[in-house]
Amino acid sequence: MNIVMNKAEVLKDKPEGSLGFGDYFTDHMFVMDWTPENGWHDQRIVPYAPMMIEPAAMVLHYAQETFEGLKAYRSKDNNIYLFRPEMNARRFINSNRRMCMPEVPEEMFVDAIKAIVKVDASWVPTGEGESLYIRPFMYANQSKLGLEDANSYRFMIVLSPVGAYYPEGVNPTKIYVEDEYTRATVGGTGFVKCGGNYAGSLAAHVKARKMGYTQVLWLDGVHRRYVEEVGTMNVMFLIGDTVVTAPIEGTVLAGVTRDSIMQLIRDFGYKIEERHLDIEELMEYGRSGELKEAWGTGTAAVISPVGELYYKGETVVANEFKTGELTQKLYDTLTGIQWGNEKDPYNWREKVN
Ligand SMILES: *Cc1c(COP(=O)(O)O)cnc(C)c1O
Repeated sequence: MNIVMNKAEVLKDKPEGSLGFGDYFTDHMFVMDWTPENGWHDQRIVPYAPMMIEPAAMVLHYAQETFEGLKAYRSKDNNIYLFRPEMNARRFINSNRRMCMPEVPEEMFVDAIKAIVKVDASWVPTGEGESLYIRPFMYANQSKLGLEDANSYRFMIVLSPVGAYYPEGVNPTKIYVEDEYTRATVGGTGFVKCGGNYAGSLAAHVKARKMGYTQVLWLDGVHRRYVEEVGTMNVMFLIGDTVVTAPIEGTVLAGVTRDSIMQLIRDFGYKIEERHLDIEELMEYGRSGELKEAWGTGTAAVISPVGELYYKGETVVANEFKTGELTQKLYDTLTGIQWGNEKDPYNWREKVN
């Protein structure tokens, strides 16, 4: 792939203090375009800047948009690593197939990420728990209001230095079990990372937040019974000595963190069941104390412990609202691998610099 470089003439000052999540952007971005005649073309790295877009661009009307999320980590010995980027590349291919959008070949996707991260390498932060969040995305930019698959798409990558998710240590959250709104049904786009899914889920998030909860636990869209995800994370429960999580059957997003954590759990000697877990069953485990630990998994937080579940007027607490032993061990092991400060027995790291 030939990438044309157009470097920024003036570089920005790096942010000082707390980075937060997704508030700052680096000096450059990666862009390429697609048409049926030329396929992917005009690969370029240009200064990060606002863009022109046609008011009739199809993405603004019919939400044909997909994205990915991963991070670049700086190790103590000053290497920069990606974590299993080929998994994001393959998931992006699946997402784009479902949304009738062109595929970005795995190698092109990973090469583009490496190229832009190298250019803005000075933005990979050095603070404890900090990283450079990488946001690849694609959208239909053909100007047309008739509904059909577009004949012009743009793929871009922007980068954002992000802070430690838990500046004061890993802390449990309160979860609202959502029994009114749903997120996905089989045959829909639940397994796709597309903007539309997020737009549709906002009402539940806003409602939960108003009621004092940080995240929503999603139940399946047909029976409103089976546990699927928590917020924008996959979710797992330690019940007795078995970890239970929802199967990947079209409604749940196949998280890279989920897959990695499941590998660690197996190697720690726990059993894993990928099965439909009835919310009534889960609440009963909560009442009886058999629910030992619960946590969400995702790239942003890595692991987010669940301390409390609220469902139809009742609250159950897991592990006395403290971060569990297994939860903490999974967090420490995975972040150790990701930041390049521990051995990498699974070959999950990919060096950039
Ligand atoms: C991105 C995402 C996840 C987590 O995936 P990771 O690859 O682990 O970051 C889980 N659920 C939803 C709905 C998501 O969009």
